[in-house]
Amino acid sequence: MTSAAHRLNADLHCHSTVSDGVLRPEEIVRRAAANGVQLLALTDHDELDGIAVAAREADRLGLAFVPGVEVSVSWGGETIHVLGLSVDCASAPLRDGLARTRGGRDERAREMARQLEAVGVPDPWNGALRHVGNPELISRTHFARHIVASGLCTDIGEVFERYLSEGKPGFVEHRWARLDEAVGWIVGAGGVAVMAHPARYRLDETALWAMLAEFRDAGGEGIEVVCGSHTADQYGRFADCARRFGFRASRGSDFHGPDEGSVDLGGLPPLPDALVPVWRDWPQAAVTS
Ligand code: AMP
Ligand code: MN
Ligand code: MN
Ligand code: MN
Repeated sequence: MTSAAHRLNADLHCHSTVSDGVLRPEEIVRRAAANGVQLLALTDHDELDGIAVAAREADRLGLAFVPGVEVSVSWGGETIHVLGLSVDCASAPLRDGLARTRGGRDERAREMARQLEAVGVPDPWNGALRHVGNPELISRTHFARHIVASGLCTDIGEVFERYLSEGKPGFVEHRWARLDEAVGWIVGAGGVAVMAHPARYRLDETALWAMLAEFRDAGGEGIEVVCGSHTADQYGRFADCARRFGFRASRGSDFHGPDEGSVDLGGLPPLPDALVPVWRDWPQAAVTS
């Protein structure tokens, strides 16, 4: 039977202008509330700066809110994203770890700009900066928006295919946090570490399971099952995976902006039955009905 926790419209993954989203933190909260979201986490990449404003707006609107972050990790030559949900934003090890993780982005972006200029992208550095809301957080998405605006590609997906994925002219290899340290920062801040969009990684099943085992051994407790990057088939695949590893299941749109991606805030189907929602025992998720 579907529980009240399963029916809760939880959206635990989205981005604001503090990383690579197009809406400000307070606008994210208003849109989520208008869309019927009942439990929201803002999870900017490697940044907590939007949380205070978002929490205040959520409080004003009576929307249950948990502080979150999406940490960039390097594992086995692949970039992995780990969500930290319900973290204490004042935790010094978490804050310091995120600051170090952000640290290399400026230099990486300058190299990306040089490479993109060499293949004919007009003024990539200033063009990307026009889309950046936080100078500490320049991401590939900001270059992608500039390349679409310049008319070289019709959408962001095409930009990643032609310019920004591994082996393409604007891709710059980068070393992010280690998996065990990222999980350690999250758990040390009282949060729950959740593996983001597991279907996205270019890992075969053996490598994926090895990565998930390492994640669990480091203290990881959850996995995204229903998320903006997964197909309906993948919901089933990762529901099985959650049961196999004993992970709690999460649900998140990974919303970046109204004109990007296919899923709006709160727009996903519920979690499959028989999974334990990551929010099941959270006080913010207490349902009155
Ligand atoms: P970065 O942290 O600078 O490497 O940028 C990663 C971000 O790029 C992700 O969080 C997504 O928002 C975006 N991204 C990555 N791959 C794609 C893709 N194929 N299509 C659209 N956006 C993507
Ligand atoms: Mn992003
Ligand atoms: Mn991600
Ligand atoms: Mn994300």
